[in-house]
Amino acid sequence: MRNTGFSFSGKPLASLSIGCMRFDGREQTKEIVRHCAENGVLYLDTSPFYCFRSESENTETWVGNAIKGIRDKVILSAKCSTGNGGNEIGEYNKTHGFSVTTADRVRELIEQSLRRLDVDSFDVYQLWAVHTDEVYQEAFKKGGWLEGVMKAKEEGLLRHLGMTTHSGNAFIKTAVDQGIFETITVPFHLMDNSRLEGLKYALEKNVAPIAMNPLAGGTLGQSGRPAAALVNSGIESVTDLSLRYIESFGFSALAGMSNIDQAKRNTDIMKKPALTEEEAAELRERFLKIANAEKFKCTTCGYCMPCPEGIDIPGIFKLWNGVNVLGNTENSAELDRAVSRINCTKCGACEKKCPNSLEIIKMLENVTGG
Ligand code: SF4
Ligand code: SF4
Repeated sequence: MRNTGFSFSGKPLASLSIGCMRFDGREQTKEIVRHCAENGVLYLDTSPFYCFRSESENTETWVGNAIKGIRDKVILSAKCSTGNGGNEIGEYNKTHGFSVTTADRVRELIEQSLRRLDVDSFDVYQLWAVHTDEVYQEAFKKGGWLEGVMKAKEEGLLRHLGMTTHSGNAFIKTAVDQGIFETITVPFHLMDNSRLEGLKYALEKNVAPIAMNPLAGGTLGQSGRPAAALVNSGIESVTDLSLRYIESFGFSALAGMSNIDQAKRNTDIMKKPALTEEEAAELRERFLKIANAEKFKCTTCGYCMPCPEGIDIPGIFKLWNGVNVLGNTENSAELDRAVSRINCTKCGACEKKCPNSLEIIKMLENVTGG
């Protein structure tokens, strides 16, 4: 496995990392994490919200189980947010880690994550889902997020600080210049490289750039028409190009993985020769000529859920992306079936929580033709 040149707690940050949002159960998580660790993929990005089914069944407890006996070999990160996952401070949710606006609450969240992961400390602790200046400034208030985190750091509960945001280049640069964060995690993939300038700036300033959504919420992990554009290029799939495109800049691709096949696919890709920036850019151009990248909006993160009407918003948009962005017409019938079940009352609950500020109600109307 190739590395980015950054290391945390003496462990290298590989060009591939594990986003822990898309696990599918305790056993699968263990298989994925163990396989990745054996192949040099060490960075684990957990949160108290991911895969939350109950206090005992969630990403943190699954990862805690998976790293038993190999804790010292992985780079373990945890996080909580001053925001609500969307663009507001919102209401405090102790279990899920949002709207954590005081030092005491941060402490509770840190202790909760330590308990669930069953570890003594984190290698990295992140200020999570900071998409606006208001949510960012909230962290620096007297008696707020930063104070709580710095106290925990002094006590040895965490070693390095990081930040995640969906905001743009100017904001990324501000966060980098703050001088306290050692990682910055932002959306970046073949169809949306708009934060390239910010990530390159982070690299220059020795802040580790981590690309979240490297497969555009799974869309670039689906098979489909655009793969044909890459025939005879040495690129085997859109996923292959997606991961090596990110690596070409020296960033780590934070890939969500739901099963061992995806983990093996990803680690195998990263054993292939690295692409230069120029090679990767030329291949991206070929890909974009065939994909309808401008139609891509939803990263299927699931922050908008649950919907009171039971609508599977990320599931619908994942199918829609496959059919309309990548041309996977074999999924059209499944999309039609999912669309026929949409009964949106336009309550607006989902839009408040979308980190990409998507107009979900309008998008669902367009999907249904309503
Ligand atoms: S609509 Fe927004 S919050 Fe919901 S899954 Fe898509 S990107 Fe995530
Ligand atoms: S606006 Fe529609 S899709 Fe969104 S939460 Fe309400 S009912 Fe569900």
